[in-house]
Amino acid sequence: MILAVSKLKNPSSPADGYRGRFAPSPTGPLHAGSLVAALGSWLDARKNGGKWLLRIEDLDTPRCVAGATQQIQYQLLACGLSWDEEVIHQSQRQDAYKRALERLNGLQYLYPCICSRQMIANTLISQGIQTPRNQEMVYPGTCRPASIRSNPVETLGELQQAWRIALPQNCHIEFEDSALGPQSQNLNKEVGDFVLRRSDGLFTYQLAVVVDDAEQNITHIVRGKDLLSNTARQIYLQEVLGYQRPDYLHLPLVLDEHGEKLSKQTLATQINTQDEKHALLELRKAANHLGLSHLPDGENVTIAEWLLAATHAWRSE
Ligand code: GLU
Repeated sequence: MILAVSKLKNPSSPADGYRGRFAPSPTGPLHAGSLVAALGSWLDARKNGGKWLLRIEDLDTPRCVAGATQQIQYQLLACGLSWDEEVIHQSQRQDAYKRALERLNGLQYLYPCICSRQMIANTLISQGIQTPRNQEMVYPGTCRPASIRSNPVETLGELQQAWRIALPQNCHIEFEDSALGPQSQNLNKEVGDFVLRRSDGLFTYQLAVVVDDAEQNITHIVRGKDLLSNTARQIYLQEVLGYQRPDYLHLPLVLDEHGEKLSKQTLATQINTQDEKHALLELRKAANHLGLSHLPDGENVTIAEWLLAATHAWRSE
């Protein structure tokens, strides 16, 4: 089966126009890298007269840090980045993810998998395939049955086995990134059948983000370039679930002195929002990283004034 993925946007977009979002995982407070994603997505929404939603991606509960959600919200507000509508927490949306999983099962897209990471690594090695460091292993299809059928619904929640989506042959996804231009990925070659529910029962980021973006009618996804390689998987899921495809814009990453993406693992320091002066300094650094120039640089400018100027400057030719 060859999946022809339309490059055209679905013509019927939600009636209320642009809807963007910022979707941090509460694994720690905001650092310079996450502020770039927050500011870029906020400016894009405001420039387009749209809504900007905040979604807390606290799905991977073992990685979440107590208090981080409140800290992130406090930091955003200190930077003048206010959001519209109620904040969504992924930890409270299990039913929605379960419904999507059941739909995919009904469409005969799912199969259970008992492979551990080590088993996958061993299979790949036995096939002479080396996975470079920092790259995901391409699932070799070990557990994939010859033909995919719907499974008894009660088995979808069983622990000790993951649930993978069975990709059609030649699953080649093309999309346009508003900043980076045309992108494509062959999911069979670069990812393989991927996991939607883990063997510990947690739903994966890929499934949750697609369900939430669709249910929140997100029309524009503006986020860090580290997530670019996930986009084809998400577009594929949107296609099979019958959701509309949002526009994508991936922002430049902030790297540390070793060329690594800033993250909690690389001990990124949190942004300093102790007062307006410090928050504005952080915003200026983020704007600089986003390539915004000619913004008011005086001492007495308020955050509100500065954000207004930055909104005007955002992606204007
Ligand atoms: N929760 C993800 C992160 O913090 C972002 C997800 C997204 O923007 O799609 O990296």
